[in-house]
Amino acid sequence: MKLKALFVWLAIALAVGVGGAGYVFRADIALAVARRAAASVMGRTLSARLPDGLHAVFCGTGSPLPDRTRAGPCLAVIAGDRVFVFDAGEGAAETLTLMGVSPGNIEAVFLTHLHSDHVDGLGALALQHWANASAQSPLRVIGPPGAERVVAGFNEAYAIDSTYRVAHHGPTVMPPTGYGMRAEPFSIPPEESQRQLLDDGGVRITAFPVNHAPVTEAFGYRIDYGGRTIVISGDTARSDTLAAAAQDADLLVHEALSPQLDAVLHDAASVQGRANIAAVFEDILTYHSSPAEAGRVASAAGVETLALTHITPPTPIPGLDEVFLRDARGTFSGSVWLARDGDVISLPRAGGVRRSRRL
Ligand SMILES: [Zn+2]
Ligand SMILES: [Zn+2]
Repeated sequence: MKLKALFVWLAIALAVGVGGAGYVFRADIALAVARRAAASVMGRTLSARLPDGLHAVFCGTGSPLPDRTRAGPCLAVIAGDRVFVFDAGEGAAETLTLMGVSPGNIEAVFLTHLHSDHVDGLGALALQHWANASAQSPLRVIGPPGAERVVAGFNEAYAIDSTYRVAHHGPTVMPPTGYGMRAEPFSIPPEESQRQLLDDGGVRITAFPVNHAPVTEAFGYRIDYGGRTIVISGDTARSDTLAAAAQDADLLVHEALSPQLDAVLHDAASVQGRANIAAVFEDILTYHSSPAEAGRVASAAGVETLALTHITPPTPIPGLDEVFLRDARGTFSGSVWLARDGDVISLPRAGGVRRSRRL
């Protein structure tokens, strides 16, 4: 029985379970369903349920602005049976786990840049990487110079906790050698337009610089596998290097900040006398991209599908998603999706593009 059907069955059983002894039966039914659901969750990873190919797993589509429906920036890319994660904002580890991607299976984390919203989920992710698979070596974190400081900070912050875990579960379950993260910083010299970071087993990952000034080193990534390509913009204002790197990609995952919604919040802050907040809403326009700009990049690069992420500001009111989509569709005639946490966009080796929900 499919998991969804089990929950429907449970809902019906709970609904009819009325009367004095109803709660007794409901508890037993819930436990029986939980056993089946747990077996399903423990038994199969998301990658085992996907066809061979390249898959964009949206484990965080939010921004620093509060949004209960979106974790901080996180995209997992599944290439065959290998899992790579790009950025780890707050809530990324939880969302990944709920989607069926065990943090224990992550081969490496690639950081687009060191803004806090892109790294503040690293601590939980590294802990889950260690605990989920009894990792023998730390989680690799590949990113701009300074990644080593970020990683050292997290390792120190979780150091006391790690001693408790080893003491409680023992070194076989929690091998001390697998604790924490190991930073692998890299740069791209000004005379170079890109840097290849990985090329093995048919997977190629290439970094390229984008424009997120005053962040001095901010990168986008191109992932190639099985004849399919995903390009990740990272956080960026208009950047020619991005359009060049995204040439003929199947999927461009691009950040999006709506100037119209930003203006709504800016004006409200001004009217309420909150000058500092108003200033922030003015400043962020200079180093992010509007949906229309993302569409222009997608058009220039000739990509097939554009997925908007890093949704800023949040869209809690029905219809606000359309503000983003309408903007992007004005400059791009291909498929445009506004990504939500739990979405998977699949590029099977055999061809085509499929979207599914895994939350
Ligand atoms: Zn950001
Ligand atoms: Zn940023």
